[in-house]
Amino acid sequence: MKVNEYEKKEYRNIWTISEILGGEVLPVSFELLGIARELAAKRACEVWTVVLGSGLGGAAESLISYGADRVILVEDPRLGAFNDELECHILERLTAKYRPEIMLGAATNRGRALIPRLAGKIEAGLTADCTALAIDPETGELLQTRPAFGGNIMATIRSVEYRPQMATVRPKVMRAPIPDLNRTGEIIREETVPEDAAGIKEILRVVERKESSVNLSEAQIIVAGGRAMGGPAGFQLLKDFAKRIGGAVGASRAAVDNGWIGYPHQVGQTGATVQADVYIACGISGQIQHLIGMQSCKTIIAIDVDDTTPMMKLADIAVKGDLFEIIPSVINELDERVRA
Ligand code: FAD
Repeated sequence: MKVNEYEKKEYRNIWTISEILGGEVLPVSFELLGIARELAAKRACEVWTVVLGSGLGGAAESLISYGADRVILVEDPRLGAFNDELECHILERLTAKYRPEIMLGAATNRGRALIPRLAGKIEAGLTADCTALAIDPETGELLQTRPAFGGNIMATIRSVEYRPQMATVRPKVMRAPIPDLNRTGEIIREETVPEDAAGIKEILRVVERKESSVNLSEAQIIVAGGRAMGGPAGFQLLKDFAKRIGGAVGASRAAVDNGWIGYPHQVGQTGATVQADVYIACGISGQIQHLIGMQSCKTIIAIDVDDTTPMMKLADIAVKGDLFEIIPSVINELDERVRA
């Protein structure tokens, strides 16, 4: 809601909205706690997380070990399946009661349904799909950076007059902290009230969509190809390479738009966000829309004929040369080793 300078002072602490699936806390919830802790350290405030679900088991303890000071647990059998209206009503009530200064959610399918609905209800500013978050320690203003104007600029957005300040972050954009099993925190149990379910839709049946066999987000090694691959045959070379090193195949949008490989392989602003241990970019120049999706990979290896590209500059290991010479020779070397 819109607040004046005096009312602003009533809003404190940084909240994250944790996601649970099948009784397990989704990794993105830990990633949100990681960035929330960094912001809270600057603002000298607490990190709270809200968990809505059914049969939550040890979820609260694990969230505390990843950085939550307080966990608000709302357990109700109706929260076992995702119901954005019910969750929204509960969060609206909790927000009015505790007044968080900042609320961070995940830009997952679930978050994309829930968080804007909540922001609309409580009249808060929301910046979706942030790639970086910082805070002004004095004012508590959240500096929310995300691509804008078709990804051509990075905009930093502030929500000066509204509280709470809300932002979503895609999975794998932030790094999860290392859990500390000795951390202690408070668990606050909140009950649902009849008004939470007033006027909401009834879920009759949940139909699970079969996931694509490509799961780039979880891959530890990714071999990605760009426009330089030249066609489907080029991607076959990458598939052969990826198979030998236990990797998945990624692609730039240029390759996907050309129809050389399917959309589930696309990495970047309009594709998957990945956080692999090793990302091997083959003939990808590294435009900002691609980098957004892979820049937090641990080790980046780039192969390009041009060593001035943004990807070659970003890479931990930059290999200058023709990928159609380099990759076959690496495959041969790997095969030789297996035979030896
Ligand atoms: P190029 O930029 O053409 O780079 C090809 C590279 O290959 C060059 O560096 C070249 O030197 C090198 N090369 C050529 N031949 C060889 C060879 N034989 N051996 C080695 N290297 C060679 N892009 C994405 O990837 N993901 C997105 O999600 C995405 N979303 C977008 C959203 C919007 C709104 C917009 C406007 C754009 C988006 N793009 C996205 C497109 C992005 O701006 C770039 O156009 C695209 O990433 C370029 O792909 P590329 O690097 O494969 O091609």
